[in-house]
Parts: sequence; structure tokens; C-alpha cells
Amino acid sequence: MSKYIFVTGGVTSSLGKGIVAASLAKLLQARGLRVTIQKFDPYINVDPGTLNPYEHGECYVTEDGAETDLDLGHYERFLNIFTSQANNVTTGRIYQTVINKEREGAFLGKTVQVVPHITDEIKRRMKLLGQTGEFDVVITELGGTVGDIESLPFVESVRQLQWELPEEDTVVVHLTLIPYLKAAKELKTKPTQHSVRMLSEEGVHPDIIVCRTEKPLSPELKRKIALFCNVKPEAVIEAADASTIYEVPVLMMREGLDTIVLKKLNLMSTREPDLTKWKQFLDKLKYPKGKVSIGLVGKYIELQDAYKSILESFIHAGAMNECQVLVHNVHSEYITAENVAEKLTGLDALLVAPGFGHRGVEGKITAVRYARENKLPFFGICLGMQMAAIEFARNVLGKTGANSTEMDPQTPHPVIDLMDEQKKVTAKGGTMRLGAYPCHLVKGSLAHRIYGQEQISERHRHRWEFNNKYLADFESAGMMASGKNPDTGLVEIIELTGHPFFIGVQYHPELKSTVENPQPIFVEFVKAALQHAASRLSPAARAATV
Ligand code: GLN
Repeated sequence: MSKYIFVTGGVTSSLGKGIVAASLAKLLQARGLRVTIQKFDPYINVDPGTLNPYEHGECYVTEDGAETDLDLGHYERFLNIFTSQANNVTTGRIYQTVINKEREGAFLGKTVQVVPHITDEIKRRMKLLGQTGEFDVVITELGGTVGDIESLPFVESVRQLQWELPEEDTVVVHLTLIPYLKAAKELKTKPTQHSVRMLSEEGVHPDIIVCRTEKPLSPELKRKIALFCNVKPEAVIEAADASTIYEVPVLMMREGLDTIVLKKLNLMSTREPDLTKWKQFLDKLKYPKGKVSIGLVGKYIELQDAYKSILESFIHAGAMNECQVLVHNVHSEYITAENVAEKLTGLDALLVAPGFGHRGVEGKITAVRYARENKLPFFGICLGMQMAAIEFARNVLGKTGANSTEMDPQTPHPVIDLMDEQKKVTAKGGTMRLGAYPCHLVKGSLAHRIYGQEQISERHRHRWEFNNKYLADFESAGMMASGKNPDTGLVEIIELTGHPFFIGVQYHPELKSTVENPQPIFVEFVKAALQHAASRLSPAARAATV
């Protein structure tokens, strides 16, 4: 049977609970244990699919098409495993299940209440992955901060599970903040004491306290935290600010987080963690040999979490190319034909980001045109691919007013359009083409060279599609469909011949990039950017770089 680790957070949000949970999972995995992570979020949305990226960052999509919290992206990137719908549960989903059961009469006339009905459903879902027999350890991250009204049923469920399960089958890790007061030149433990007390009042006592801190914690301070929070001194773990999230597993190992967790779970017989590959990646990441500047054209650039998986994919691809990728955010709303050259000056490549709605799309189209005409390596993802198709239709095929019917339902040339089955859909949640679909690549194409195989599978999240009515026009002018869905014939990849690197994909390749398996288009795109950078140097400087 699985062991259960619960990760709670106190004092403030944004302490990096997801990263700590993923790091702990990585260490346990590196010891040979089969580990998965799940996230329980206290908000009422059934899933984050309907949330604006400004609210909650990127919506991460799993293989089975679940729209989930971006922390699941970290879990997959760290562990190199697939997660699924079962790995992300919200209050909304819990209530939806319970209310549906109530409507079916499943409660036999009983009053339906938070305790026990909601908590029973939470516990059922907390144990679901553990019961598959596929995992030795299931880590559950509780979203939100201890003390929030909305997280109470989740904490209560943890309390009940601890009571129900054998003592050595559960462990609670509480992540808190130890703020440094500049004026007093002191680290302060009081907020942590309060947050542990609050958690205890709710019936859960943490076994381990992980302390986020800007400054090292002295042994005395650790003892003080241990004493006042009633844990052993070795159960107080320092989580110092790291230069990259990928360093956190190594820092946690140094602090002995995995050891103390395994001791509590009575799993001490596992081997020492083997982090060889991870450390090799980290070395390449920390000591790059070169750098490239890549423009990220999008409309949510004020909020970096909106493009989390893209940014992480660049980190993986950069390490693979032993170079640092400097991502320059370019706000699509402010790009015009007049300023585009100036805005994109000095860039070695351009990525046009996914998105929804009309805001900023004309800027994206202008940026694509610049990349196409100036032979700047180009990579368009989802909406970015659609914008590349529109740009080509307008400026190469001469189809004035070409557009997507998402932006202009009356366009004379709907090169991007809804498929018939999508036209009937009015609900917003979960109604897109979601999750993994197969794609067949054309032999000898750029896409084929990048992937090194003809059959691939990538994840989707969109409603609109390339309109195949226009495909022959596109292909005869040099924009080929190099990847298609083998079952439906839908165009998944377009690429421009006679350009050093110009590719647009209808799917989201960034969702499958991991530390161990960097996504191949990102890897080749960074390589193309490096080549572009080298070609811009003077012959002498170029010679010096080889
Ligand atoms: N808005 C576009 C569509 O729904 C693109 C979506 C995206 O970029 N994820 O098809």
C-alpha cells in the first residue's frame, strides 16, 4: 500500500510549495521509489480551465486532457512522469460530485454536510492514486494557506486520514516563511509559530517544518523553531532562496528532507538518491558557454506564470545547447508595422505565444511578418501558429482581410476556422480540443528532422483549426503542412520552405518538456537562434566562437 505525504503551506502564499513537493518527490524517485504528486486546490472552479491567466497563471493540460494547475507542470518536469485528471482536484469538483450524488438520491434522505460528506469525498480522492498499486508514495500538496476558511475541509480530511491510517503511513510537511527584518537584522520565527499553532488547532500537527528564508538559519534558530513548534531539530529544514528551482532538490537533500521523511514513513531501506543526471543538467544550466536572446511575443507578459511551461522549456533546451536563453518579453499589443524592427532588434529568434481573444493579435501578425521576411528563426505555438497562417494568407497569398473566425467572424478568408462539431458548443469549460493527439509527420520536413520519427503525440488546448480549404494555396506558395492528425487530417504543423527555421504548431509542445527529455522543437529552435546569433557577428568574431 502507498504511503502518503501531505504538504501544507503557512504564513503567505507563493512560497514555492509546488517546488518543494516536486523536489521531495524527485529525491524519493532518485532512491528508486515510485512516486506521484497530486494537488488539491480550495477554489470553487471545477478546474482552472476557465481561469484567466492573470488569475492563476498558465493552465496546464495533461495527456488525458485535464485542464489543471500549473504546479502539475512542475511535477511532470521534475519527475519525468505523466500526471492526469486524478492529480488535480478542486473544491468545485468535490462539491460537483457530492451534489450530483445528492440529486441521484444516493444519500438516502440524509442531510448532506461538509463533515462527513465533503470530507469523505476529499479523502476518497486523496487515496485514489495510492489505491492503484502503481505508487509507493503519493505526495498531496494542499493549495492555499493554512488558516484560510476555504482550506479547512482539506486540513480536516488530512486529520481524519492520519487517524485512519497506520502511523507510519503518513507524514505532514509544513512550509512556512522565516522573514528577515532588515532594521532589526534578525530572522523572525513568530509567524511560523503562529502558523503551526493554527494548523494544530485544526487538528493536524506537522512532522517536518520547511522554512523559506533569505538568510541561513543558525542551529540555535532551528532549535528554537523546533522547540516552539514541537518537532525534532532535524525536522526543521532550511529552504534558502535558490538561483533556480532546479537546485531545490539538491538543497533539500543537503538538508536531509528525504531522510527525515523516510524515517517517519519507515522506509529507511531505500538506497541513497542517484541525482547524477540531474546534477549534470544543473551544471550545464549554471555554467552556460554562450547565450542567445529570444523574443517572446504575447499579451500576458506582465505575468510570467502565464507562460510558465514555455519558459521552463527554454531552460531545458538552453541547458541541452549549453547556452543561456535570455527571454525578452515583447508585448504584442504595442507592436506596429512602424516600430516592429526597433522592438525586435537584437533578437536571435522569435516565439509567438498561445492565447485567446483578439487583444494583441495584429501585433503578433506583424511580428510574424518581420520574422518571415528577415529570416529570423520563428516558432509559433497554437495561436502563434494560427497568426503565422493568417500573416501568410494576407501578405503572401494576397488574401486581404484573412483572419480567424475567433477574431473576425465575418472575414472573407477564414483561414482559421471552427470545425463543425465545435460550432454547436456554447459552454466555456472543458469544451476545447484537449489532451494528447497523434500527429503524422511528412518525411524530410523540418518537423521530421527535429523529432527524428514520423509518428508523434502532443497535447492540445484550442478550439480553432487551420482551414483545409486553403491548404493547396498555402503549399503551392511554400508553406507546407508537415504534420497532420492521421485520423482527421487536421493540420498540426506548418513550416516555411526557404527559411532557416520557421515552424508553427497547433499543439502545445511546451507541456511535454522535462529536465530529462527536453522538447525537441525547443532544442532545435535554440540551436537555430545560436546559428542566427553567430551569423550576425563579424567574420572575425564568428571565427573566435568556433
Ligand atoms: N484561441 C485559439 C483557439 O482556441 C488558440 C488557443 C491557444 O493558443 N491555446 O484555437
